[in-house]
Formats: sequence, C-alpha cells, structure tokens
Amino acid sequence: MSRTPFVGGNFKCTGTASSLTSLVKGFNDSITGYPEVEVVIAPGTEYLGLVKAVAHRNIGISAQNCVPKSGAYTGEMSAEQVKDMGLPYVILGHSERRHVFRETDAEIAAKVKAALAQKLCVIFCVGEKLDEREANKTQEVCFHQMKAALTTIAPADWKNIVIAYEPVWAIGTGKVASPEQAQEATALIRSWLSDNINASVASSTRILYGGSVNAKNCADLWARRDIDGFLVGGASTKPEFSEIVKACV
Ligand code: PGA
Repeated sequence: MSRTPFVGGNFKCTGTASSLTSLVKGFNDSITGYPEVEVVIAPGTEYLGLVKAVAHRNIGISAQNCVPKSGAYTGEMSAEQVKDMGLPYVILGHSERRHVFRETDAEIAAKVKAALAQKLCVIFCVGEKLDEREANKTQEVCFHQMKAALTTIAPADWKNIVIAYEPVWAIGTGKVASPEQAQEATALIRSWLSDNINASVASSTRILYGGSVNAKNCADLWARRDIDGFLVGGASTKPEFSEIVKACV
C-alpha cells in the first residue's frame, strides 16, 4: 500500500510572535508547492492561534500535548480544546514529555484515547534511551510503549495514528540514527503492528523517524523502506524544513 509521506515540525518551547510569523510565512511559499506530502507544524500552545492564522491551509497545525479532560488542570490544554481550536493533530508520548515531565505509559494511553475520541490525528512517539539501546533493549522499549497505548484502539481510529520512532539519544543532540538503525527500528514497529493489530494497519500506518533530522541527512533516511517521513525538531524552526519536505516527494 502506498502511504502518504508525512513531515512534522515540532517547534517545542521556542520562538516569538514575530519569529514564528516570518518562519511560517516562509513555509507558506516554500512548502505548499509539495501537496503530495502531509506537512504539520506544532508551535507552543501560546502561538497556536497565531500560527493557525498565518499558515497556508495546506499546512496542518498540531498541539504538542494535551490532557484527557477539560477541568481544573492549570497550565494544560485538553483534547476537547485542541479540537475546539480547529487543530486536527496532537503529538503525544514525546520523549520530553516522558522523560522530562515524567508522563507515565498509563497517562499517555489515556491521552491517546481522549484525543482519538475527539477525532484528532495522534502523532504518537516511541523510542529508547541510550543506555537502553546499549543494553539491546530498543525493541523491548518501543514494543512496551506501543502496547501500553495502542492495543485498545478501535479499528476505525487507526487512520488517525501516525507513529514516530524517536530514539532519545538522537533528539536535539546532533547524533542522528544511521539509516540502517532507523530502518531496523521502523521495520520492527511495523512488525509489531502486523503481529498485534493486523496486516492492513501495518501496511497503512505511517511510521516516521525523528532525532536530529536535517536537510543533509534526510535523503538517506527517506530512501529506507519503512520510513514514511519525519518528525523534526530543531531544523523545523529554520527555512531548511522545506528542504526536508521536498526530500519526501
Ligand atoms: P530534533 O528533535 O530534530 O531537534 O532532534 C526531534 C523531536 O524532538 O521530535
């Protein structure tokens, strides 16, 4: 099955109203010439409205996180509010949420469930830390993270899941996984989908690589069979993001 390429840009907690306005205006010119790639950008919560207003309609806007329910959760945004803002996507399970903010598998699973109930598209991140890779636990860690959040998904909701393999040791470090390492892990993720969900979900679900992707290294990664696109951090806050999108055409 042919899968639509997907490139996400996670701005994390960076940018200002003026820098993001000019960045996104630049993307409007450079990125929208590649309609065959699904392009999504995720600014911080405080800039979601601004970026949504500035971005060309072919660029999707994503929240970087959400909580399952609206209510007394100071500082948070709920899945319902993400939907209400007209945002079609949310990133969940990002390693910074897992390891800096100590989100547990159970919390992430509840977020995934709530986001899917709102019909949001979930960009679900998994990946191992350096010590886990060195202990040959990459497969165990990724499978555990997927099992915790993805086994109870209703068949009709799988079209709203994109999985990002993001080894923690490659995120923001400049140490990109080799194309072989990235292919091996994304193929393992696809085999997990085939074994635990079904063959059709395994062949239709987009699996991304993330971790120090840039305009120079993206072509070799993109050439690998199981990599359907990228989740980009640092390089998505620069004009080179459009080069990464172009590489996926
Ligand atoms: P990076 O971040 O591209 O800056 O390594 C990737 C991510 O966190 O998704």
